[in-house]
Parts: sequence; C-alpha cells; structure tokens
Amino acid sequence: MAATILVVEDEPAIQELIAYNLKQAGHQPLRADNAEQALILVANALPDLVLLDWMLPGLSGIELARRLRADKRTRAIPIIMLTARSDEQDKLQGLETGADDYITKPFSPRELNARIKAVLRRRAPEMTDDMVQLGGLKLDPASHRVTGNGEPVDLGPTEFRLLHFLMTHAERVHSRTQLLDQIWGDHVFVEERTVDVHIRRLRKALEPTELDALVQTVRGTGYRFSAS
Ligand code: CA
Repeated sequence: MAATILVVEDEPAIQELIAYNLKQAGHQPLRADNAEQALILVANALPDLVLLDWMLPGLSGIELARRLRADKRTRAIPIIMLTARSDEQDKLQGLETGADDYITKPFSPRELNARIKAVLRRRAPEMTDDMVQLGGLKLDPASHRVTGNGEPVDLGPTEFRLLHFLMTHAERVHSRTQLLDQIWGDHVFVEERTVDVHIRRLRKALEPTELDALVQTVRGTGYRFSAS
C-alpha cells in the first residue's frame, strides 16, 4: 500500500535518490530541505512516516524528532533517522529521542525499503499489504477482498479502510475523532457522525456472515473491533 513519506534531507542528490526510490516502491514522497520546511509540511498534513536526516542546517534532525514526539498531533508518526555516523552512542541518542529506527548512510534502496516496511508493519500495520485474519474475518489489502467465514463481503472503499484499521488495531477503543484522523485524514473536515454512518454500513455488509458483532460500540467512547 502506498504511504506518504516525508523525506527531510539537505543534500539534494541524496534527497532526489531517496524520493526516486520511494516512488519506485510505490510510495508518495514529500520533500523538505530542512526541519523548518518539514514542520510546515507536517502542519499541512500528517505523513505516514518521516525519513529524517540527522545533520541538517538550522534545527537538527534530532531536535525535529523531539518536537514531533512532544506534540500530541504528531506523536505517533513513525520516524526513521538517516545518518552518516555509525557511532553506537549516536544510535542510542537517536532511539531515545523517539526514532523508531535508524539507518546509516550509505544504504541501498533495498535496505531502506525493508526498514520502511518493518517500521510500518510495527507502527502502522494498516499501511501494509499484509493479510489480516481475525475472528472468522479475512481481509486482504493486496486484492482488496474481504471474506467472513469463507463468504465474500462486499465493502465500499471507506468501509474497507475502516475495517482494515479496526482489525489491525483490534481490542482497542477508538474515538470518532481518532477514526476520522486515521481514515479520512486529520485535516479533512468531516462531521463525527459520518463515522457512525460508515460503521453502520460496515455492520450491514457483515450481517450475512453473522460477524457484524465483531464491530462493537463502546458507549460514550467510540468503536472497537473485538474477536475475543
Ligand atoms: Ca545532512
């Protein structure tokens, strides 16, 4: 699945190369030459992941990572630090700052892609093409197919994304606001009851398979997918 990946890198040749490789891997790269530019892009829309150069002119990569982690809105964005240093001490500092992973330059496109995939799998499983199977439901992002107890389930694109997110974050309660941010994007103005409408549609689509009860309403809080 295509992820929007923000590349913060001041060396034009490296930035270009990374952006090219990301596109080849099916992602959508956003580019910033420095941390200040990155903050403006992030304020505009949340990326799915940030590739962050350690050594930047002005605000450093470490400082930017710290700021992203300190802000409630940007706290959960996965970050991979890029650096020319291979010093173990630096690596520790990077991870302490809240980076999810750390990659030393020079790296191959293959290594970069593998790291991105691993971090997304861990931090944003709804971004990957991994098959999800829970409580009799099977969702395959690659073919965009859902089956319930072996029977095909016909879902619209929004219900599909909603179910994918809920299944990859099962047993947790998500507020309507959280679901709006995740499924519709955090800068899209949609009323909270829109979530209820799509949850209703999702349950209706699941009804023939008798698996609609997996999508639970948590009164006063939001929704939860529970297979237990
Ligand atoms: Ca640099």
